[in-house]
Amino acid sequence: MNEIYSHIESHVDESIQQLFELVRQPSISTQKVGFDKAPGVMKELLERNGFDAEIVPVPNDGLPTVYGYMAASENPETAPTLLFYCHYDVQPVDPLDLWDTDPFEPTQVGDRLYGRGMSDDKGNIGARLAAIRAFIDERGGVPCNIKMFCEGEEESGSINLPDLIAERGDDFKADACIWEGGGRNLNDDPFMYLGLKGVLGVGLSVRMLSGDAHSSYAAILPSAAWRLLRALQTIKDEDENILIDGFYDGITEPSPEAIAAVEALPDDAPEWLDTFGVSGFVKGLDGEDLRKQLTFQPTANIAGLDSGYQDAGLKTVLPAEAKAKMDFRLVPEQRPYDIVEKLRKHLDKHGFEDVEIEVLGAVNPYRTDLNSPWVQLVAETAEEIYGRKPVMTPNMAGTGPMFDFGDTLGMPIATSGIDHPSHKIHAPNENITVEDFLLGAKHAALIIERFARDWG
Ligand SMILES: [Zn+2]
Repeated sequence: MNEIYSHIESHVDESIQQLFELVRQPSISTQKVGFDKAPGVMKELLERNGFDAEIVPVPNDGLPTVYGYMAASENPETAPTLLFYCHYDVQPVDPLDLWDTDPFEPTQVGDRLYGRGMSDDKGNIGARLAAIRAFIDERGGVPCNIKMFCEGEEESGSINLPDLIAERGDDFKADACIWEGGGRNLNDDPFMYLGLKGVLGVGLSVRMLSGDAHSSYAAILPSAAWRLLRALQTIKDEDENILIDGFYDGITEPSPEAIAAVEALPDDAPEWLDTFGVSGFVKGLDGEDLRKQLTFQPTANIAGLDSGYQDAGLKTVLPAEAKAKMDFRLVPEQRPYDIVEKLRKHLDKHGFEDVEIEVLGAVNPYRTDLNSPWVQLVAETAEEIYGRKPVMTPNMAGTGPMFDFGDTLGMPIATSGIDHPSHKIHAPNENITVEDFLLGAKHAALIIERFARDWG
């Protein structure tokens, strides 16, 4: 593998320039910004790196997936097939004033490269392409068949992905899958995650008046803002219990291996406290209990609240309408559309039939078996590249559409990537280091090599 690693190192400037091309092209799926060009930029980059690439229309007028296929240089009919899941869409850039550089003008400051998507997930795409190009240049091709699935709607909840998988899933099937993410943690240990929580995102709204009224009429007219607040109050209590009937139904104890893996994770509580400027966590949690809460417990979060006037000074208004956005992070036994039904029943039961629910995002949770051979292969290769055993998270607290690949298409999934907690993903000043990029690229290369050897 030394010639492959040397190629990755000696061509790092070119690889970073390719990554910069991707970052320079905005692709904010939530706001549909940049998608006139972004799928084409992604497709062209796959083609330039040796893939047959296609812009795949997504059902329900979704933002397109870009898909690439590269056959093994020898015996492609019998060679195993590896799928890399990535996404070329990014999070919104606001608050823009907290960025030190233009989010869509990639900038190097010291050893860090800044820009929206530099880490999540364009950096992972770039690192994987760097690995693949090394095989092509050094050995005339890749040793296994490779599929690159680059989604365009991951950051806005992958809401159309299940329909795409139902329509064309067979095309994307592979013998194993490497997910986005993974990399190093705060202790510089390699880390892998083997699952993701699901999510249900909803908009809640209530309208009480045909139009805003003078606030003196609050003496006699009903308030939408107060009504929505009262409805929200019924959903969660002060001890973090979610009060929707049946919300926790079917949730089982995590496996002993999953619990042991969480216990073995590093204690990053001080970092959290420092990052968010808080003096403690909910319920006074700390240590292993804190990590178990983060990994194994579902949530009910208010992501946004909106009613009436919030600009300068005072406007004495009684707003006609109030709105909230909520997201529920779900654990493996839960399903988002089941939770919507339960939320509807809950609001009705409490007399809030007039509070409307709009589903904004729904992703099933997923967790890979910690003992699967695929997880072992990826863990062993991580140890070779990083020089230390990886720490494993049974599932991340965040969400992604692993279920559609792991469960619906039935392939084992593990992670490998360029991540580090200092990358500020989803936040202002998102960045990577060249070192993280190189490690991620080398790990991708070694996975390709071992997979081709052991999975034939
Ligand atoms: Zn991502």
